[in-house]
Amino acid sequence: MSHPDPRDPLGFDDLLDDEDRAVRETIRAWCQDRVTPHVADWYEAGELPAVRELARELGAIGALGMHLEGYGCAGATAVQYGLACLELEAADSGLRSLVSVQGSLAMYALHRWGSEEHKQHWLPRMAAGEVIGCFGLTEPDHGSDPGALRTSARREGTDWVLNGRKMWITNGSVAGVAVVWARTDDGIRGFVVPTNTPGFSAPEIKHKGSLRASVTSELVLDDVRLPADAVLPEVRGLRGPLSCLNQARYGIVWGALGAARTCLETARTYSTTREQFGRPIGGFQLTQAKLADMSLELNKGLLLALHLGRRMDTGSLRPEQVSYGKLNSVRVAIEIARTSRTILGANGISHEYPIMRHSANLESVLTYEGTPEMHQLVIGKVLTGQDAFR
Ligand code: FAD
Repeated sequence: MSHPDPRDPLGFDDLLDDEDRAVRETIRAWCQDRVTPHVADWYEAGELPAVRELARELGAIGALGMHLEGYGCAGATAVQYGLACLELEAADSGLRSLVSVQGSLAMYALHRWGSEEHKQHWLPRMAAGEVIGCFGLTEPDHGSDPGALRTSARREGTDWVLNGRKMWITNGSVAGVAVVWARTDDGIRGFVVPTNTPGFSAPEIKHKGSLRASVTSELVLDDVRLPADAVLPEVRGLRGPLSCLNQARYGIVWGALGAARTCLETARTYSTTREQFGRPIGGFQLTQAKLADMSLELNKGLLLALHLGRRMDTGSLRPEQVSYGKLNSVRVAIEIARTSRTILGANGISHEYPIMRHSANLESVLTYEGTPEMHQLVIGKVLTGQDAFR
């Protein structure tokens, strides 16, 4: 028998096929070349420089709207899309957020609920990374309860006029198109808003202590006038945005484990070279207990992610199953980041190592796409039949 691989002790790779591995290698190589050497500096500076160039490169390697069919999208499987998210987030959650919002939120909304004209007009350029998209659901006063959103769209003749504010919107200031969810006489509807429309602005949110290598913005809609066909025709109500969130949450199931993998791998290698009391700290039982538990949780998480991915590929993935995955992956990743940090001692708090950056990023990942409490409530409702949201 061959030696066990400490990076894949359960043989997870054997569950993938050649195409899965090829997709993973492409994304991994791009991240190692274009992101990993620079991202600590971007993070410290609190910016994602050359984001448009990065988006075009991500488009060129097929990472944008990867799991969608047609309109220039790669048509990859859900498992391949998950593996891509994992590799991106192994570099930085900010990069994965850029790709998730583009593909799973903005492009998915257009692909699933848009008119043929919307799809033809936007999707090929979004898949190529020529146009960046954002997704405006959260408002300053309405986060976990988006059904209460206040942004309004009223009819004036055949036009729509939008007013309101969105908050914490990834890609907002660099987007060419925003999918904005607003209240109408007919319930919540989605609108396709070119960001050069008069009355639209997207001031960037600064002073973040997390996800610093990611653009996060407010969206201000001040009498934004749109033509009649700006509305997404195929959906009404909260079902529209929730269907998109389900896609993005699925990406996080994999992505958060990428951040965890980087932290664990950093701690494991560090423990083999750092010596105290005359021997490598990886030789102490207490360090090994930490490493063993982290490896166990990471690999359990990967197996759950793969299970969910395969269900998505067969069309049998249910929203509450995604909640199990999102809740588990982010929880596990935060714990792994924190424990890995302890293995590096003081070095653990330095940006010379990636752990503190991942740790801080994961706090955003914990909150967006449904807080842990929201996912517990989703699962709780399935288990008891009782709706405990309000
Ligand atoms: P709140 O809803 O105010 O929640 C605060 C706390 O109360 C949480 O712990 C929550 O779980 C708890 N809580 C609320 N209701 C209940 C309840 N019924 N029972 C128990 N506990 C409850 N949004 C977008 O639309 N588009 C984006 O691109 C986007 N990007 C983001 C990027 C970043 C970096 C961040 C941090 C957020 C982003 N968000 C985005 C917003 C994100 O989705 C919201 O922050 C999230 O939904 C939580 O809403 P909130 O922050 O208003 O918290």
